[in-house]
Amino acid sequence: MAELKRGPFWITNTLTRKKEEFKPLRPPHVGLYVCGPTVYSDVHLGNVRSFLTFDVLYRWLTHLGYKVRYVRNITDVGHLVDDIDAGEDKIAKRARLEQLEPMEIVQKYTNGFHDVMRLFNLQAPSIEPTATGHLIEQIEMVKRIMANGYGYEANGSVYFDVPKFAAAHPYGELSGRKIEDQLANTRDTEGMEDKRSPLDFAIWKKAEPMHLMKWPSPWGEGFPGWHLECSAMSTKYLGQTFDIHGGGMDLKFPHHECEIAQSIAADGTSPVRYWMHGNMLTVNGRKMAKSEGNGFTPEELLTGNHKLLEKGYSAMTVRFFMLQCHYASTLDFSNAALQAAEKGLERLMAAMATLERLQGVTPEPSSGADVPGLATRCHAAMNDDLNTPVMIAELFEGVRMINSANDGKLALGQADVDALKELFRNMVFLVLGLKVESVAKDDGALDGLVQEFIRMRAEAKARKDFAASDRVRDQLARLGIVLKDTKEGTTWERA
Ligand SMILES: [Zn+2]
Repeated sequence: MAELKRGPFWITNTLTRKKEEFKPLRPPHVGLYVCGPTVYSDVHLGNVRSFLTFDVLYRWLTHLGYKVRYVRNITDVGHLVDDIDAGEDKIAKRARLEQLEPMEIVQKYTNGFHDVMRLFNLQAPSIEPTATGHLIEQIEMVKRIMANGYGYEANGSVYFDVPKFAAAHPYGELSGRKIEDQLANTRDTEGMEDKRSPLDFAIWKKAEPMHLMKWPSPWGEGFPGWHLECSAMSTKYLGQTFDIHGGGMDLKFPHHECEIAQSIAADGTSPVRYWMHGNMLTVNGRKMAKSEGNGFTPEELLTGNHKLLEKGYSAMTVRFFMLQCHYASTLDFSNAALQAAEKGLERLMAAMATLERLQGVTPEPSSGADVPGLATRCHAAMNDDLNTPVMIAELFEGVRMINSANDGKLALGQADVDALKELFRNMVFLVLGLKVESVAKDDGALDGLVQEFIRMRAEAKARKDFAASDRVRDQLARLGIVLKDTKEGTTWERA
């Protein structure tokens, strides 16, 4: 059964640009590393989409029976404001703005990130290492890179020697960028003076006196380069070579390219067997970004309190909306698409509720319903590079079966009903990670309704129809609404 359940699982390896059968290094164990958030501001929905992709990957691998060690880091050192190794530490900058300790900023936005992950029902990773908690490992890695001749010190910083590395190893394989093109396109920029080549990147950066986050090192007080933490922490927890590394498409270059170079330079091995990259979320065709003014926070999304939103949408509606698109395609966020997803999710959840009540027609065999075939197709879709939109389309085939059976138009045997229950529970709850949302009624509307019942009860009392007034009170109590008679009149509260 376990073997059957596993099946061949194919993923698009962005390193080879091919769909490849996933074969872990040490089955049944799988090592998965995902680049986590930089905790200096709130996450927006584009970030959520990226983490969701790997949440579904984690869930699917687990469903297939693998024992996954899922590592997702917290970047709490703060990398530089721009990508040219100049400028200011983002977390320190934010700390000055908000008059807080840097670690206070880190804690605040880490808590906020976790709240958002819980809201969208993303599972917590097995290990969530922080960059500040792994300074020793990072310094050791810088030393190994230097000892192998691929790092040099200049004025208290240490740089990775890209041209020297590229002469001995493939460089640019992941992003497809050629070193000659990169050189031709590089202008001299600020912070260049210590580098031998404009392509070199800092693996250790000297701290200016004003810098808040800095640590002692063999090269003086400073802080690690951004790319380094992921290399050091993935090596520590998953080994020098591990199975899957994931992240958003925008991290391919320079971040992931630099991770590969660092690992080869330090330990002589390419670190990752399968690279996976999730695509962007766009809004009306434009990339979601804070600078574009279209980066909704989850709170704005739920309340509808944003100029681009016609109304609020629940977290599961948004999750379902995102899963209706393959992770490698761009997804455009629009009110029309969200409202369609809302209806679709309602239909799916209603069918699941119907299914729980459905009784099989025994001993008759099913008529015209191929439940085992449906289950096979759902598995096949997920095994085909996590094709959630196809899997969801298959589930709606199941929804039609459930509704027909409920209407008496389709006879389903008990075995088929049980198989449908298992399939839907597994695919909808465990794999897609959807959950039943308590319908968040607007308390204003609820209050209006309850006030109407209070008025009816008062009228019944006035005409001395106590049976009717008690009926109203008892009926509301059964719905979890308790009435209280006070001198000022009748009030209500939730039980
Ligand atoms: Zn990373």
